[in-house]
Amino acid sequence: MIEKRNKSAVVVGAGLGGLSAAISLCAEGFDVRIVEKNDKIGGKLNYLEKEGFGFDLGPSIFTLPQIFRDLFARAGKQMEDYVEIEKVTPHWRNFFEDGTRIDLYEEEDLMRREVEKLAGAKEKNWAQFQEFLNYGRSQYSMIEGGFFSEGLDTLWEFLKYYNVQLNNGVMDYRNSMSKSIEQRIDDPHLRMIFEYFIKYVGSSAHDAPGYMNLMPIIQFDYGLWYVKGGMYNLARGLGKLCDDLGIKIDLNTEVESIEKDGFRKVSGIRLANGETLSADYVVCNMEVIPAYDKLMGINGRFLKRAGKKFKPACSGLVIHLGTDREYPQLAHHNFFYSKDQNKHFDTVFKKGELPEDPTIYLVAPTRTDPGKAPAGCDNIKILPHIPPIDPENPLPESAYLEMKERVIDKLERMGLTDLRKHTIVEDTLTPIDLQEMYYSNRGSIYGVVSDWKRNYGFKFPKQSSKFKNLYFTGGSVNPGGGMPMVILCGQKVADRIVKAL
Ligand SMILES: Cc1cc2nc3c(=O)[nH]c(=O)nc-3n(C[C@H](O)[C@H](O)[C@H](O)COP(=O)(O)OP(=O)(O)OC[C@H]3O[C@@H](n4cnc5c(N)ncnc54)[C@H](O)[C@@H]3O)c2cc1C
Repeated sequence: MIEKRNKSAVVVGAGLGGLSAAISLCAEGFDVRIVEKNDKIGGKLNYLEKEGFGFDLGPSIFTLPQIFRDLFARAGKQMEDYVEIEKVTPHWRNFFEDGTRIDLYEEEDLMRREVEKLAGAKEKNWAQFQEFLNYGRSQYSMIEGGFFSEGLDTLWEFLKYYNVQLNNGVMDYRNSMSKSIEQRIDDPHLRMIFEYFIKYVGSSAHDAPGYMNLMPIIQFDYGLWYVKGGMYNLARGLGKLCDDLGIKIDLNTEVESIEKDGFRKVSGIRLANGETLSADYVVCNMEVIPAYDKLMGINGRFLKRAGKKFKPACSGLVIHLGTDREYPQLAHHNFFYSKDQNKHFDTVFKKGELPEDPTIYLVAPTRTDPGKAPAGCDNIKILPHIPPIDPENPLPESAYLEMKERVIDKLERMGLTDLRKHTIVEDTLTPIDLQEMYYSNRGSIYGVVSDWKRNYGFKFPKQSSKFKNLYFTGGSVNPGGGMPMVILCGQKVADRIVKAL
């Protein structure tokens, strides 16, 4: 039985960060209401059923299940009663332009066999692989202990908490992710694979700090998972939890403004239909920059400065194909690497241009869940990372469609023979669609970029620097983007609010 506190919160947006904050606050005795502009909850965790194919429009990789379990436990429930998950194996299949193909496995013996397929000294490659994971573990346990568990939000909190680790050199922050990989790994294929773990936060391995090499550990030590029946079942499970807790969710309800109350406080929200909802706290799951701009009219120097520091993470060209044949060489998760991954990172993240030859992520969920396509067919989602929209120089739709053709050409060349010819169902989302669907900043798919020089790897803090009872949750807020991180973010928002009572 949850003890009531006689305090209320209204949550703007039912993405995973919003749902997590709402559930966590409700578990702390707050009276909570969620308002969502779309016709379903989940935000970017979204789906499309089309002619017998079930496409996950957003996330497809589920990691760190313990963070999701903690959310259910906080509400006195067990995740397994709401959401069923299963392990995916192999984790990834990696295809290189030189014909090399290796899989990633959690099991040491299977992984060793894959590494030993690579040219060069087998013992050395395997030793470097293992040492790299040990170094990744040291970074993971440090970041997990503070940045994640304590919900650290500012450089000051970070320096205070990590004083010793920064000084004794355990924390790898001086090098970029790429540099630290280069120092530890000789094989070019393994280098590219470890670099591309940065996919999980939509940034560049050249700019992200070395400690982000913690990411392989998320997968190798805690597994890579699939939500049984399709990723959207996670949103359904969280929706059921909200129902069980009595959290009211208003769908198809757009928030037009966050109402100010004097100089440093907010009093609630105003909806597009003119109705006003008052609350002691507003928790905003709309990204921070569009929220200040569109919901509060704060768009002067403050936002310009914030926009430079907290630049959006990458966007994506999200291509869903239903084919009338299977491509048995695909695993559930696949990566088709660029010939020159350095150029890929520079083109997307430095020049802000569409890459000629991107590294491509491709998901074929029927490997784990045959129900996602008719028998004998394949369900293929293709996701190259591309720059967010440049408002000063937006690309025409045609530029994205030309890139789509280049991507299909590359996949056909790398073994998916006649992919174009065998496509019978199709749906493509460009950054323009992503911005419209979720109001994300310039069509970003993971929130704020992780870039040591710009932001020391930080996102926006959870509490607004301008209004003391306004909080933010989601990919543009610490600890950042990706499903587990935004679920953690929502929990930490509730902790901050409760601590400040
Ligand atoms: C194509 C794609 C692939 C991805 N792959 C993965 C993956 O494999 N693994 C992974 O972990 N993560 C992945 N991600 C990232 C992950 O989906 C996000 O980090 C996470 O879901 C974002 O959650 P969020 O809480 O920040 O908000 P969002 O999902 O952006 O939700 C925000 C919600 O707020 C609503 N909203 C905004 N403004 C208003 C308003 N004014 N009024 C009312 N409602 C409003 C929006 O409609 C939306 O529902 C992927 C994302 C995409 C798009």
